[in-house]
Amino acid sequence: MTSQPAPFVIAIDGPSGSGKSSVSRTVAANLGAGYLDTGAMYRALTWWCRHSQVDLSDQQAITAATLALPLEIGDDPLAPTVRVDGTDVAAAIRSSEISGLVSSVATVPAVRTELQRRQRELIDDIASRRGACVAEGRDITTVVAPDAPVRILLTASEEARLRRRSLEVHGASDDAAIEATRDQVLRRDRDDSTVSQFTVAADGVVVVDTSDLDFDGSVAAVMSVVDSRRR
Ligand code: C5P
Repeated sequence: MTSQPAPFVIAIDGPSGSGKSSVSRTVAANLGAGYLDTGAMYRALTWWCRHSQVDLSDQQAITAATLALPLEIGDDPLAPTVRVDGTDVAAAIRSSEISGLVSSVATVPAVRTELQRRQRELIDDIASRRGACVAEGRDITTVVAPDAPVRILLTASEEARLRRRSLEVHGASDDAAIEATRDQVLRRDRDDSTVSQFTVAADGVVVVDTSDLDFDGSVAAVMSVVDSRRR
């Protein structure tokens, strides 16, 4: 009798602009694995709170909205889908408004407990159906999946992260565009760092610095860590 290989989990954390979403999706597609974008879950919750007029200064109200959140998240890395109560919010959750608000929701302790519980369930389900799951966020290597066989911290210099996010959001990386992106990258990372550790690698987590790598180089660097762990 041949035994099935154990479901394989690849956990990737990193700050904004490190390239973790696009790199994680491509790595998942290359491996034929499923994909979970945990940031999209916090963004979808923030969208839902706004949509249902939850007061974002009321932690109890945010917690109640989290427990009731009717979220469906797809696992296809080539076509990630996010629906809340049947509405496709994949584009809406990327707005500057949601990016500016998401940390205030994500730093509520009871919100994290509930979304981390859902993330563990999703990762188990995706990995067992598809053989492997690439899950990315801020606390996947440390809290959500600390036992994953591959754990990577994707980093890049502040300058590289600001430049990338500025090109993505404003289509330019001149001084004005970088200034307009600063809040979305640096302030958000500062707020997020109060509840998750994603600037220094925990024990056993491999650091991949993408500051001097282009997109293909970043994918290749992550693939080589995955390959070395699979051998
Ligand atoms: O990765 P992304 O920028 O889409 O994440 C959006 C926000 O979700 C982060 O700024 C952070 O507040 C929150 N987040 C988190 N823990 C994760 C993933 C994201 O707190 N694992």
